[in-house]
Amino acid sequence: MASSAWDSDIVILAAGSWSSRITVAGAEPAPVKPIRGQLLQLLGPRGLLQRVIWGAAGYLVPWPDGTVLVGATVEDVGFDENVTQEARHHLLDMAVTLVPGLKDAGISDMRAGLRPRGPDELPLIGHSQVVPGLIYATGHYRNGVLLAPLTAQIVRRLVFEPGYVPIAALAPERCGRL
Ligand SMILES: Cc1cc2nc3c(=O)[nH]c(=O)nc-3n(C[C@H](O)[C@H](O)[C@H](O)COP(=O)(O)OP(=O)(O)OC[C@H]3O[C@@H](n4cnc5c(N)ncnc54)[C@H](O)[C@@H]3O)c2cc1C
Repeated sequence: MASSAWDSDIVILAAGSWSSRITVAGAEPAPVKPIRGQLLQLLGPRGLLQRVIWGAAGYLVPWPDGTVLVGATVEDVGFDENVTQEARHHLLDMAVTLVPGLKDAGISDMRAGLRPRGPDELPLIGHSQVVPGLIYATGHYRNGVLLAPLTAQIVRRLVFEPGYVPIAALAPERCGRL
């Protein structure tokens, strides 16, 4: 594949689970690791669930198309995005324990994704203290969808408002020479 290079005054490192693989001269690799999550989509009896159900081991979400989303595993297995039989059984058992009416439900889909987890499970959002022009927006772990609008707002302010100081608890330098 042909490679290209762009010059920019500002670069935003927002590569999720792959953030540690991006080499930045002068900075340590971002200490973000992938945590696999597997999900099942069940074809349960239509209308069985009316709302989200949380249990100690997972959750069930009724979708508008009548299927039920069953989530999710939390696995420290590196960059492996495969689905497994073990997770299939675990998620099915968990779903049936929460809602016995799902006992005979079929499986319409199973998928896996990687959650980007930092050392303290909080995102890293802010200017690099060692590389001028570099901004981190990574490590959102289990809440990256929920936090996307807020993260976008913070990054916009970091880019366009000189002197803007974001949330101290998210400062990237708490996690190393970043
Ligand atoms: C099973 C599961 C359930 C989840 N449920 C929820 C939930 O209910 N609510 C919630 O808020 N969050 C949830 N999450 C977490 C959420 O998906 C993540 O926090 C979020 O995706 C992180 O967003 P991101 O943009 O930082 O990283 P990603 O979504 O991983 O995006 C990073 C992107 O960077 C790209 N990339 C990597 N390397 C490079 C490179 N060198 N150059 C260019 N591009 C690159 C990747 O291809 C990818 O597209 C869940 C995750 C999983 C796996």
